[in-house]
Amino acid sequence: MMVHMPGYYFGILDANGCTSPLDLPGGDISITAFPFYVTNSRVAFVETWQEPSPNWPLIFTANIPAGGTYELLFWPISRQPEFNIGLFAITGLQRWPGPNSGEYHFLARAPEDKNAGGSIHIKSHLDKTLVGHELGHAFFSRNTSVSFAASDYSIADAWPCNAGGVGGHDIDSTEYAQSTFTEAVATYYAAVSWNYRDQDGDCWLYHPGYPTGVNCDGGQTALPLAFMKNKCSPWTGRGVEIDWLRALWNIRTSGAKTSDNSLLNWIDAAPNAYTLTNTYSNLDAAANTMGGALNTNWDTTKVTNGLNP
Ligand SMILES: [Zn+2]
Repeated sequence: MMVHMPGYYFGILDANGCTSPLDLPGGDISITAFPFYVTNSRVAFVETWQEPSPNWPLIFTANIPAGGTYELLFWPISRQPEFNIGLFAITGLQRWPGPNSGEYHFLARAPEDKNAGGSIHIKSHLDKTLVGHELGHAFFSRNTSVSFAASDYSIADAWPCNAGGVGGHDIDSTEYAQSTFTEAVATYYAAVSWNYRDQDGDCWLYHPGYPTGVNCDGGQTALPLAFMKNKCSPWTGRGVEIDWLRALWNIRTSGAKTSDNSLLNWIDAAPNAYTLTNTYSNLDAAANTMGGALNTNWDTTKVTNGLNP
């Protein structure tokens, strides 16, 4: 975050949360913190609509001893969601060393969760998966050159594939394949942010509908593998987010692991413009064009997760 200590320091803390070495007198020092972060040449800037100001700095006093190194522990509380969101955001951006050098804007405490007009509105600062997911939308929007994204959630399938109903969506709801893939890559970004790649592929995410967590690698009782194929209505041209999420995680963690950027290149390599229903065939062809580990892993996981018609 950006920190101002009048007379001594005004700048952005490094990746370890440290200032440069400072020559400070012992005693009370006033510190102003701003929810502004930079990591890997990327900027995450968090604003709030909450009073008293749109860019709410946090001003506090620290008693700093003379001499040596002083570590100030900073625990944002619930009234400071913009700091929590910023910390979540830079965790995600640090974990994915992709090519982007742009800015990511978050608006905290909006009345509803949504992603609109280039800004990300997050209602709750408590939901790690949600914050990573919304950052994922921004990440894939900035780092792919084609328009694969869609937000048509009009399909209302039968239980247990009906979460979200008409106009809504969730990790377990049937939607058009393009909309599903748009949401799955966003949740995949959350998975990358909060799980290590090398723990035997193991992957878990918080989800309010699944109190013991969502397994983003393997099947679980409530969310078996190939969920759409096994649990939902006839599905050509459709998808369910959990299936695509697991497929993306498998591409990342199986066999010869793919590079982070190969996934972005894969999306860009699609031979046809994306439509609501051609996502599978388009990406299947793109995988053949890509070849290598991505294609090998894709050919396995597309079957495991029931993406192949
Ligand atoms: Zn989303």
